[in-house]
Amino acid sequence: MNYKIENGCLLLHTEEGFQAVKQDLYIEDGKIAKIGSFGAGKEEIRSGSLVGGIEKDSRILETGIGKGSGIPEAGMSKGSGVQEAGIEKDYQIIDASNKLIMPGLINMHTHAYMTVMRNYADDVDFDEWLFRRVMPVEDQLPKEAAYWSSLLGCMEMIQTGTTSFVDMHMYHKQSPKAAQQAGMRAFIGRGLVGEDLYQDGFSRFQEALEEKEAYESDLIKFILSPHAIYSCSGKLLSQVAEEAAKRDMQKQIHLSESQAEVDNAIDKYGKTPVKYLSDLGFLDKGTILAHCVQMRQDDLDILRAHQANIVTNPASNAKLGNGFAPICEMAEKGLNICIGTDGACSNNTLNMFREMGLLSIIHKGIAQDSTAAPAQFVIKAATEHAAKALSMEQKLGVIAEQAEADLVFLDLHAASLFPNNNILSSLCYSANGSEVESVMVKGRFVMRNRQMLTIDAERVYYEVDKIVRKCL
Ligand SMILES: [Zn+2]
Repeated sequence: MNYKIENGCLLLHTEEGFQAVKQDLYIEDGKIAKIGSFGAGKEEIRSGSLVGGIEKDSRILETGIGKGSGIPEAGMSKGSGVQEAGIEKDYQIIDASNKLIMPGLINMHTHAYMTVMRNYADDVDFDEWLFRRVMPVEDQLPKEAAYWSSLLGCMEMIQTGTTSFVDMHMYHKQSPKAAQQAGMRAFIGRGLVGEDLYQDGFSRFQEALEEKEAYESDLIKFILSPHAIYSCSGKLLSQVAEEAAKRDMQKQIHLSESQAEVDNAIDKYGKTPVKYLSDLGFLDKGTILAHCVQMRQDDLDILRAHQANIVTNPASNAKLGNGFAPICEMAEKGLNICIGTDGACSNNTLNMFREMGLLSIIHKGIAQDSTAAPAQFVIKAATEHAAKALSMEQKLGVIAEQAEADLVFLDLHAASLFPNNNILSSLCYSANGSEVESVMVKGRFVMRNRQMLTIDAERVYYEVDKIVRKCL
């Protein structure tokens, strides 16, 4: 289906920064074919300091209230949602009055299968959480349970504006199956652990390759995902690095999540986890490093030298009492910083809007500096930086011609976003995800006017409830 989306405000990123501009959007074959307002001229609404000489208050009224409150244009349905408004040549016309259209958010680190354990292991210490709560449940969770749990995770991500996610899972084929059903874009890795990739870890590595073979598509890609330096031997990590290079695959790993992990690495190897991975030849610009909480100054230099990508998980790291990644220092060093929610068992949501707001506020508090981690940086981290980490610069995380049509439509008349004094602030500090009305991935609506189109929500609730009763 090709679409012409009219009357919406597009969040564009130009050389001057972000601008919310009222322009038409043409979508063809899953890509943004053209951005342009034909006849109506270019209009802006407020986006930080970029108002472009346009009178501010009338701008919001013009883009906000005009269509809904006046006489509907010919052929256009009147209403509050994203409406079909007729056909023009080969395009179905969508009326996006009162909507902000932004690039889909990219959740750079999660474990969708853990959603079933939401609010199951809270207010306990890290060892209790991992070894006595999470792992015993994982051990008895049937494989199909991971599918329904992952699908619930996909549903929550879509409902809160995420179109792509990076996943590490433990159940063969269930996460890709869920992502495929949901119609999301996903970068998925079977968690690898053990001493030797071709002996101890062999069955998991085989599973990783089998999944790739069975599910790789335009939307679903696979990345090699050793769990952590404390659950994988150095030999296995080197083997993974070799396989990734040979197969042209990216790698992800949990790194320097807790002080104990760093202390143990120094005891065992005489170096920090970052230096350890660097010496094993594991770090490069295709490497995605989740957490990076406990960092030393020379760790940042090493990460910079290898151009590795950082994924900060502010809620999970804070909630498990591990601390905060030093993202301000990392940004100063020029590191590529992205955002992830981690799993619902440690967060306890997969809502990227909550994560974005937390990230900024936590770092302003820590730095005792209200200018730290500003909204523009945070929004870029959740979109453009993530696209860069996934080698999809200018294809994902932006509204641009020839980019993928992964789009989120937010209701500018939601109370939490009104008035629209500053769009970037609205998205970073005010939005809670409930403003997301419709979501498109690769030009296909997966949620429209809050209705899930690819997932049978009631069935998911029924199946997940059954699992909870049986396994938790
Ligand atoms: Zn994780």
